Amino acid sequence: MPGTGVIDAASKANESSQQPTQTAATATQKASRSDYDAAYEHDKKVRKVFRLRIVYNKKGCVKSGHCVLSDPYDFELDEEFKGILKEGAEQPGKVPGIFIKEIETTEPHLAINAAKTCTPKVIAVIDLETGKRIAP
Ligand code: SF4
Repeated sequence: MPGTGVIDAASKANESSQQPTQTAATATQKASRSDYDAAYEHDKKVRKVFRLRIVYNKKGCVKSGHCVLSDPYDFELDEEFKGILKEGAEQPGKVPGIFIKEIETTEPHLAINAAKTCTPKVIAVIDLETGKRIAP
């Protein structure tokens, strides 16, 4: 069939043009994962205690529920299916709906995953030891 050759050639060209980009992207992901996330991997042997601050902006919640699936110790859903930061303190000020909670945990990946999987990225996690934001 005459059209098949064109399609094959086009898809081969497409494959060959995409391959280096995909490989480079994968290499970048691997590099950033090892550099960035390795320090917060769950390690049953070490059991290091991390001090984290979770910051949550409830106004931006779109009710996807990922936070509860990732970290049921720190998140639950209200009657409207919006996320609640358990025992989070609402911050006084002009902008309502900002909640903060500080935790000590040997399983930092739970809060980190909640922040990473939250679709509108309204959850942030800060490592109190370094003062740096570690997720999302
Ligand atoms: S993951 Fe984010 S958007 Fe989804 S319910 Fe939790 S806070 Fe709301």
